Amino acid sequence: MNPTTQRPNDPTNLRLCVRCILPETFPNIKFDTEGICNHCRQEESALAKAPAKKADYRRKLDDLIASVKGKAPSYDAIMAYSGGKDSSYTLKLLRERYDLRVLALTFDNHFVSPTAFDNIRAVTDALGVDHISFNPPWPLMKSLFRITARDDIFSAATLLRASSICTACIAFVKSLTAKTAIEMSIPLSAFGWSPGQAPIQSAIMKTNASLIRQNQKALINSLPDTVQVQMKSYFIPDIYYDLYKDRFPTNVHPLAFFDYDEERIKIELEGIGWKAPTNTDTNSTNCLLNAYANQVHLERLKFHPYVWEIANMVRQGVMPRAEGIEKIYSPQNSEQVEYARKKLEL
Ligand SMILES: [Zn+2]
Repeated sequence: MNPTTQRPNDPTNLRLCVRCILPETFPNIKFDTEGICNHCRQEESALAKAPAKKADYRRKLDDLIASVKGKAPSYDAIMAYSGGKDSSYTLKLLRERYDLRVLALTFDNHFVSPTAFDNIRAVTDALGVDHISFNPPWPLMKSLFRITARDDIFSAATLLRASSICTACIAFVKSLTAKTAIEMSIPLSAFGWSPGQAPIQSAIMKTNASLIRQNQKALINSLPDTVQVQMKSYFIPDIYYDLYKDRFPTNVHPLAFFDYDEERIKIELEGIGWKAPTNTDTNSTNCLLNAYANQVHLERLKFHPYVWEIANMVRQGVMPRAEGIEKIYSPQNSEQVEYARKKLEL
């Protein structure tokens, strides 16, 4: 085969773990004689204990909610809300199972799909949730995404789990969510991470002010000077760490310990007016930058930025292996890739 016609992510040219779907191009991966990767082997004992652990976390969340519900001055929880299926489902859980007063916050990165905005409106209306959208100016977002499209400004460990573009965007989502929770005295901060995206160990976690401070400093320092200055106001101001030290919220991502089945989630969401988008890539239901972010990551690092998440879900049995392979090893939607490339003038 002519090597110039090969895609970096073509599964016919790649060895994959026979249990999860991690490829041979994933940094430091090792396969044993049965073709099973080191990550699958390391996870075996934790997976055996997973059902008991999930039940334990569901009880922990019940207790936590019982201890905070109705006590805060405004909302019980803030939800980082993208309009995608996972955050929509998490929002539904917070409203219908726990009846919390929730403020949904969307970070509009200028690539939120029109369908996602329709879904945000439909879901927040159906669930009776207040919603705010945070829109940074386009020139600033454009320069941030152009920088992260060209350079991997984050650590190698970070890039195993997400593309540089996605990592930058999510960092602002996390920061703005925490900042708003602190400013409005909201005790819970909810995220819709899928069970493959974030481990159960961090699924209910009181934020640690000094750790946040360190992370924010590291992030600011990894940004070039030009955007650093303009973006500073999106981070938690230094005085908050002392002044509002009792207001740092508890982060929760409940999908790590509730039953997770994509098809069932979609059906339940359709019941409250959410519609599955058709114009985004296979791994994102809401962001029109994602296909391009995946493409540049693949070209540079030779593995898909979602492969860690999807491999985790396959290993945990929440997604069939064939479906995981299709999600990760299908070519990126070229129209979407070109749409973002043009918009960013790259
Ligand atoms: Zn594996």
